[in-house]
Amino acid sequence: MHKRKLRLKFLGCLVGTAIGDALGARREGRGMSRSEDVVSLAEKLEQLIYTDDTHMTIGIAESLIESKGFNGEHMAQTFIKNYEAEPWRGYGPGPPRIFGMIKSGEAWYSAANRLYRGGSFGNGSAMRVAPVGLLYSRNLEKLRRIAYQSSSITHSHELGKEEAALQACAVALALNTPSDEEIDKETFLSRLQNFIQDRLYKEKVAQIRELLGEQDKAKVVAVLGNGMEAPRSVPTAIYCFLRQPQSYKDTVIYAISLGGDTDTIAAMAGAISGAYRGIEAVPSEWRAKLENREYIEALAENLATSVNNVNVE
Ligand SMILES: [Mg+2]
Repeated sequence: MHKRKLRLKFLGCLVGTAIGDALGARREGRGMSRSEDVVSLAEKLEQLIYTDDTHMTIGIAESLIESKGFNGEHMAQTFIKNYEAEPWRGYGPGPPRIFGMIKSGEAWYSAANRLYRGGSFGNGSAMRVAPVGLLYSRNLEKLRRIAYQSSSITHSHELGKEEAALQACAVALALNTPSDEEIDKETFLSRLQNFIQDRLYKEKVAQIRELLGEQDKAKVVAVLGNGMEAPRSVPTAIYCFLRQPQSYKDTVIYAISLGGDTDTIAAMAGAISGAYRGIEAVPSEWRAKLENREYIEALAENLATSVNNVNVE
């Protein structure tokens, strides 16, 4: 792909994550709402303040760039450094405890397992995985390994690791589809279904296919979910994107209108949409309101450059 187009897609993905997160955060934990209400909320807000989803996405991007690829110890330390600088970003109870254990000497790959027997399968490792999808889009087996490893810092349950890999794969497929080429939904879903190993997620991808065209939001929420468990949010985010792949705005508005864990679902749907359509598809009035936009954009540019410096084979 042409360098400039790739750059626009990296920008779209990271900025798209942050805006979905920031808008969604204003509706987190509430029920379903009308799309018009989400649109007017976005108009009313003077600034878009992102939460832990974006904060940890930034951490992953920073670490991949600085380490020229995945380095678990470095990534964990980056999460800790960022958390300590801005602990008010809406982190759940798990990550700070894991960070404390790592600071006390526990290894990055064993702390999460020690805290939650069997590991957590919340959506916390999928919400931040977009940079892995961008960087390793040309090698899905490596993408899977890195997604698993980045997940295991905080989410070591098999379902937690699989969800991160599924979200990273969706970002990669979106990145690899030229923005002026229509998304073939059937092919997109077949690729996800072939990629994912867990049976539960294979079923979930089949449910996405069945629900395309569904008008009843309540049915979408009942089948795919809108919660904090990975199996009830990552497929939902992918669905939100595939319903309206041509529009970043519609994707994010729809994701938030489903209610529930809106910041995370909109962040993930926004990441996929931004990786496909690029930064130019993200409304400029939303971009203008995003806090730390320059920093996030610089990070996306650096990550795009890193593709050539990192061994992705
Ligand atoms: Mg959040």
